[in-house]
Amino acid sequence: MAYDYDLFVIGGGSAGVRCARISAQHGARVAVAEERFWGGTCVNVGCVPKKIMVNAAEYGMWAEDARAFGWDLTVHGHDWAKLAAARDAEVARLSAIYGRLLGGVGVTMFDARATFVDAHTLDVGGKRVTAERIVIAVGGQAVRPEIPGAELGMLSDDVFTLKALPKRLVVVGAGYIALEFACVFRALGAEVDVVYRADLPLRGFDADIRADLAEALVAQGIRLHPGRKPARLEAAGLVLDNGATLAADKVLFALGRKPYVGGLHLDRAGVECTANGAVEVDDDHATTTRHIHAIGDVTDRVNLTPMATAVGHALADTLFGGKPRRADYRNVASAVFTSPPIGTVGMTEADAAAQGPVDVYVARFTPMRHTISQRAGRKTTMKLVVCQATQKVLGAHMLGEDSAEIMQAVGIAVMMGATKQDFDRTIGIHPTAAEEFVTMRTRTREAGVRPAAAE
Ligand code: NDP
Repeated sequence: MAYDYDLFVIGGGSAGVRCARISAQHGARVAVAEERFWGGTCVNVGCVPKKIMVNAAEYGMWAEDARAFGWDLTVHGHDWAKLAAARDAEVARLSAIYGRLLGGVGVTMFDARATFVDAHTLDVGGKRVTAERIVIAVGGQAVRPEIPGAELGMLSDDVFTLKALPKRLVVVGAGYIALEFACVFRALGAEVDVVYRADLPLRGFDADIRADLAEALVAQGIRLHPGRKPARLEAAGLVLDNGATLAADKVLFALGRKPYVGGLHLDRAGVECTANGAVEVDDDHATTTRHIHAIGDVTDRVNLTPMATAVGHALADTLFGGKPRRADYRNVASAVFTSPPIGTVGMTEADAAAQGPVDVYVARFTPMRHTISQRAGRKTTMKLVVCQATQKVLGAHMLGEDSAEIMQAVGIAVMMGATKQDFDRTIGIHPTAAEEFVTMRTRTREAGVRPAAAE
């Protein structure tokens, strides 16, 4: 049967655009449908506009700290509207580039929602379109809690349409999104409370980093409420499970994201989902219907833009480029753009220790800039987790300025299987914080050592 397209991609975000573009470059006849905005979450309501707001927050701090270095500077305040306009202009520019990238390689673009009619047919904005292969790349959407008044709260998308800085912000959750925005709003001048159910923020991250981050958050004036859950949201503020009310102008729910599969009619195509609602895929990202694939956040694997683009590219090479390959989900470096930021790659101490004995190296110091600025709570923590048997570096973790930039390069070493001795024979760049990664000589502790069997 002749199909309208060799490939139809549902979703014009990071994963879908890359897969469509590379497939077209390999000679496939490709179409993409995007119902909301080209570039998806990352470009429009995620990584990109968030990072611009992080930059804005940092400038305020640098300007204040400059006084300690002799500059006669006084910060008189922050112009929210000016930041929002600059941010939105950049987002519009990048979103347009995404469109041009696709048009430039002959991809047909539909500004419409696509849903399944059957395993080869889609309804695209009311029009029937057929394709030999279909890729589901619809991403995820933020979760709203099931509490009375939840609809009064913001989700992360809403941050980017705020017309003014809220004076009092309550953030619920302590993952990436919660903490990044907590730090941004605090730095821009808001009073910020963070409510979360665990003892420490950032579940899944290394314990030393989590504990030190909690201290850094408190030092910048963010009020932490560990071990608490929201009970209901009222006009005056958020009521917690212990009955206390946190007064707020705005409440941000940052409780995770779930795959955006609602209304796609996956059942009509025989595509099944896992128990947590993600599209079920095998190691080649094929769904339960073999000619339909799913990539990016809708598969709920490593929900990061660079992972999504890597998977989209690998799938295009596999399907249309004659180069079957898989993207590697191991040792993906990532960052949390808190203040200070976190960079991490590989295993936490706890995960590594569960597999066997590890040597742990931890360094804590005040970076040179802040020995001068005297700013509180700006300590840097750096940590290496090393397999005792092979001396391979299994994990590297950092809380501190520039950690996101530093960790990208450390990630190459970890990916290559570098040993602690490889780190040791690397000459540092002085004076930097990064050099600490190659000068940690003394083991802080060992972990994961099994107790000797009782006699
Ligand atoms: P996360 O999964 O990182 O964090 C969710 C938070 O919500 C956790 O603190 C979690 O608590 C809490 N939570 C979940 N359910 C409940 C509940 N029922 N009651 C109370 N608390 C709850 O999600 P985010 O929304 O922050 O981010 C989504 C994803 O987006 C991230 O996982 C990441 O992949 C991506 N992202 C990446 C960024 C980056 O790379 N810099 C930036 C922003 C997002 P607990 O830990 O106890 O489960």
